[in-house]
Amino acid sequence: MEKRELVIIGAGPAGLTAAIYGKRSGLDVLVLEKGIPGGQINVTDEIENWTGVIHASGAELADSFRKHAEHFKAEFRETEVKGITVDGGRKVIHTDGDDIEAEAVIIATGASFKKLGAPGEKELTGRGVSYCAVCDGAFFEDQEIAVIGGGNTAVEEAVYLTQFASKVTIIHRRDSFRADRLAIERAMSNPKIEVIWNTVVEEIIGEDMVEKLVLKNVRTGETSDLAVSGVFVFAGMDPNVSFMQGLVDSVGGGWIVTNERMETSIEGIFAAGDVRDKYLRQVITAAGDGATAAMAASAYISEQLHIQGLLLEPEQVTAFIFSSIDEPQARLASEIENSAAGKRSNVVLLDGYKNRRMVEKLGITELPSMVEFRKGSIARKQQVGSLEEAVKFLS
Ligand SMILES: Cc1cc2nc3c(=O)[nH]c(=O)nc-3n(C[C@H](O)[C@H](O)[C@H](O)COP(=O)(O)OP(=O)(O)OC[C@H]3O[C@@H](n4cnc5c(N)ncnc54)[C@H](O)[C@@H]3O)c2cc1C
Repeated sequence: MEKRELVIIGAGPAGLTAAIYGKRSGLDVLVLEKGIPGGQINVTDEIENWTGVIHASGAELADSFRKHAEHFKAEFRETEVKGITVDGGRKVIHTDGDDIEAEAVIIATGASFKKLGAPGEKELTGRGVSYCAVCDGAFFEDQEIAVIGGGNTAVEEAVYLTQFASKVTIIHRRDSFRADRLAIERAMSNPKIEVIWNTVVEEIIGEDMVEKLVLKNVRTGETSDLAVSGVFVFAGMDPNVSFMQGLVDSVGGGWIVTNERMETSIEGIFAAGDVRDKYLRQVITAAGDGATAAMAASAYISEQLHIQGLLLEPEQVTAFIFSSIDEPQARLASEIENSAAGKRSNVVLLDGYKNRRMVEKLGITELPSMVEFRKGSIARKQQVGSLEEAVKFLS
């Protein structure tokens, strides 16, 4: 089976940034992407909050992110990941091609638009129902359309759609938007935009193409019809995690839970970007997550190699594990080192403060401790407080 150091699933802003950081820290990096590198930003025309770039189209930014990752020679493969299995420390990624074994994996699969779930939505998708203004906006030249939602994406995309449509009606279930002030101001001052508050879509009706929406006011219960030839749904997102099958801890419909190092509940599997349970889902936060995840994955991989080479590969070795920030422990470490020098005992010093996670992984709770490894397993361990106790352990 193909074996790689770091496999990144998803080439959106999170995955591409992780690829840049992974390559720059010397890792062998493979990026798996089922669609177009760049992710969701490919479907927006306006990015005005990526620091240093006042305005760019999503496609332009996506292209520059991909070129940046390619510049550092990250390898890309077009494939869809279908599952991940973890067996002991082995992480195997199942794709629609061959399986790949990875030392560390970063899940950067982002999120997709939530469906409304209204009758007619599924049948009329691609026939007036759309989730992408940049892809489909131009089909509605001089026509009346609706946008569903009240967040940034809905409000910004409604403004974008006024380039084509004669009228854009935003339908929002609440009585105020959850978008940036600037985006709201732009929408509210646009003469082509009208808003229907406190209202949901009950049904999308049309023979071959969308003809009208049945709306319901959530306060009064009153229903009404709105004649439109297109409806753009921006009603939130769902994480792209179906292939994970609950492998790592998640909340509220699959958003992956990580700590600040982007570590998931499974060692060696990291998550970055929109797929995470987080406060702000944007390009800039996805990129930040990708950088952190790659650096944490790099530390994890070197830790694994360190444990392997130092403690698990030798036939027999004894480690003195101590905390370098505790002065008596640091002193005892150098006494043990001096005492072992020139003798035949195979003793290594391991700073348990710097290698905290490795020490936890070995199940060592008390420092300082002597731990004897034989053929990769712990044979004996004992907490020691003096050179005499250490020498006794060694003899
Ligand atoms: C219309 C729109 C407008 C937006 N406007 C802005 C904006 O102005 N400013 C801003 O900062 N953010 C904006 N965003 C949000 C921004 O695009 C996202 O926050 C960002 O793209 C998240 O990056 P990501 O890398 O986490 O995920 P994504 O961009 O979602 O990328 C995930 C990638 O993973 C791939 N993938 C998924 N599943 C698999 C699988 N099983 N196997 C292989 N590959 C897989 C996908 O194909 C995709 O390419 C907008 C989003 C949309 C949709």
